[in-house]
Amino acid sequence: MSMKYAIIIPDGAADEPLEQLGGKTPLEAAHTPNMDWIAEHGRQGLARTVPDGFESGSDVATMCLLGYDPKVYHTGRAPLEAAAQRIPLSPSDWVFRCNLVTVIDGVMKDHSAGGISDADARVLLKTLADKLKLADFEFHPGVSYRNLLVYRGSQEFDVTTKPPHEIPDQPAAEYLPSGKGSEILRKIIAESQTLFADHPINRARRAAGVNAATQVWLWGQGHAPSMPTFHERFDISKGCMITGVDLLRGLAVLLGWDVHEVAGMTSFHDTDYANQGRETASMLEKYDLVFSHIEAPDEASHQADYKTKVAAIEHIDKFVVGPVLERLKRFDEWRVLVMPDHPTNIATRRHGYAPSPFAMAGTGVKRSSPAAYSEKNSAASGLMLKQGHELMEYFLRKGGE
Ligand SMILES: [Zn+2]
Repeated sequence: MSMKYAIIIPDGAADEPLEQLGGKTPLEAAHTPNMDWIAEHGRQGLARTVPDGFESGSDVATMCLLGYDPKVYHTGRAPLEAAAQRIPLSPSDWVFRCNLVTVIDGVMKDHSAGGISDADARVLLKTLADKLKLADFEFHPGVSYRNLLVYRGSQEFDVTTKPPHEIPDQPAAEYLPSGKGSEILRKIIAESQTLFADHPINRARRAAGVNAATQVWLWGQGHAPSMPTFHERFDISKGCMITGVDLLRGLAVLLGWDVHEVAGMTSFHDTDYANQGRETASMLEKYDLVFSHIEAPDEASHQADYKTKVAAIEHIDKFVVGPVLERLKRFDEWRVLVMPDHPTNIATRRHGYAPSPFAMAGTGVKRSSPAAYSEKNSAASGLMLKQGHELMEYFLRKGGE
């Protein structure tokens, strides 16, 4: 029988010490007996998942921790999400992330437009497509505020864009797309402001006391990437991805993995943790490698909601890590890896650039300096992978000799 591998990603869970938590980080403040068990019975360390010159994002960091050097394989975030939606792309096509955001008095208030529903997002994007009637541009609705704009024309782009979650409470106008080809992008953004201002969807949202989608925001652009499959790279038979976000579904498609959809899974704290835990454990029967990603701690961090962040981490520990560990122990040979793709800092509401703390345990993983799982203890272990893309090899093969 082959080794079973489980990889659990509490997105953005790593952080810095917070005054509100008595000088502890959310990971330290949270009660996480299962993650602690992994660190105490295996090893923990740090991995740099965001190479120099890259924006800290789940696209870069997850690609990296999966063993793919972003410097070689990363072409942008939006093309990964296009793969998730199985949007066919020719090499010259461009894909942009088309967020629905809330800008009030020129200030970026919310990169998620109040965590807008798929249904509301679809109506707004349809309005935009119908009214703009732009040749060569296609709007593709995704999950919540995460939509895509595909361009199949001959315009060349060499543009600088900014992720809206990286500019909370900043003047939006200063971060509009710039560079070659950016005029049309700025025009689409400007037109969306006009078309959405008094849109029935937004009137209803304001009446309900939730953030209106005041405009779109374009970023994360790129061409389609070309990557070897995970099987080609690591000789592990087909893997299984469980996630609530399109970005990781897309990575899975490019890796040649199956994507397993779980009922009740969202990218927020209202997600059905228990169902995700049950399904992750049960997929281990069918697949040699299961990758389970939970977005909630990241979104809580972007909202500076440290209480929800701690609660999300505790839920992941209890309802996902716990059942997965229990199931793994029924197999002869198994390994587990827990790590956030990148830190997301409550203090700044932004992704951080610190190396990500990881914990792994299981067959052949040597036990070293047992301590509870935390940023501090991971750093104190002295194990530091400066090239984060080497972590996967380390986890799958060496187990940390
Ligand atoms: Zn992330």
